Amino acid sequence: MIKPIVSRLFQVPNSHKLEIARSHGRYDSLKILFSKSPEEITQMVCQSGLRGKGGGGAPTGDKWKIMPSPKPGIPHYLVINADESEPGTFKDRQILEKDPHLLIEGIIASSYALHVKHAYIYIRGEYHFPAQRVQEAINEAYEAGIIGPKSEFKLDITLHRGAGAYICGEKSALLESLEGKRGHPRLKPHGKEPEWLFEAPTVVNNVETIASVPFIIQEGPDAYRSYGTKDSPGTMLFGLSGHIKNPGIYELPYGVNMLQFIQEIGGGVRDNKELKAVVPGGSSCSILKADIIHKVTLDYESLKRNGSTLGTGGMIIMDESVSIPKAMKNLLEFYHHESCGQCTPCREGTGWMDRILAKVLNGNGTKEDIQLLLEISNTMNGKTICVFAPAVATMAISYIQAFPEEFYVLCAK
Ligand code: SF4
Repeated sequence: MIKPIVSRLFQVPNSHKLEIARSHGRYDSLKILFSKSPEEITQMVCQSGLRGKGGGGAPTGDKWKIMPSPKPGIPHYLVINADESEPGTFKDRQILEKDPHLLIEGIIASSYALHVKHAYIYIRGEYHFPAQRVQEAINEAYEAGIIGPKSEFKLDITLHRGAGAYICGEKSALLESLEGKRGHPRLKPHGKEPEWLFEAPTVVNNVETIASVPFIIQEGPDAYRSYGTKDSPGTMLFGLSGHIKNPGIYELPYGVNMLQFIQEIGGGVRDNKELKAVVPGGSSCSILKADIIHKVTLDYESLKRNGSTLGTGGMIIMDESVSIPKAMKNLLEFYHHESCGQCTPCREGTGWMDRILAKVLNGNGTKEDIQLLLEISNTMNGKTICVFAPAVATMAISYIQAFPEEFYVLCAK
């Protein structure tokens, strides 16, 4: 096993409390932080190769580097995306509940690098208990003078609770929601530019990403790069759920073999059944058949080579008893319900596909219906404001292409 970067205190009783967290080294990185310039901290994050752990995997340093130089009267903001809503994903929750002071330490370091004086944590509406834990930790940090007016850096942190919309995990929808508007994704700029909150330049980062920053400051970028692979350095909190003996969250370096992870750490498939398929990183990822996962490693490049994405690292294990069309129906219902409705291909396409698949599952479908599902998926791809519809389309195509016989056998003609 490796020396954990973000999960070190997960098994420590009361690790969410400031006194315990401090006795285990939380906030120690701040001594090094304030001895360096903000630009040096950004440089360290760039050198570490830290990649976003919320799904996209973009290099964190690239996001930070496009922030403009600070100007008087123009604030910068940092927003932590804690809107963890993708089915199969429950990793950030562990940090929020068990080590919220690690997140605050990471926020202080990142805010210092980005010239931010007010950071926001946007947390999923359904995360009542994690929100309570994080707010208690923020209160403790204010009282202890770690943040706020009594602190060296005078950073404010505000926890904002969402209202239960999946799409608010999309960063521009999250920012709209934080501004008090409907959580609708924004049109994207053509070139690279920061996000905008209250008309000010903003960085949006995932919880686990920011929680990795203190390690990079304390141990150095090379220490971070000593984990994982050349293109996917560091570690990630990988999840196991579904038909697995040992479900849970495990911090591993990128590059571990997927089959080994399932068998040796996950204990293998539950009830000694055969493995049928794996959804590797949250429910919107393309499904992988069991017969290829022996050659898949848990990093961005391997998953891409094998026709899927690493996403959030939340793996859903399916055994031989799973009906793939029923599993896809379940997801289509979910995504139809969660479409924000701005784009016609997404608003209409997800519902249309759901209705067609219901017809097929009821025994009234035809082979043309399966072709129609593929055609609708293709019309949803690349024609919408955000990646929600393309992700649903890619997911649906992968289910049909990986297991065509399960769909066609349901069709009378
Ligand atoms: Fe909304 Fe779907 Fe369009 Fe995204 S793709 S903006 S979720 S309608």
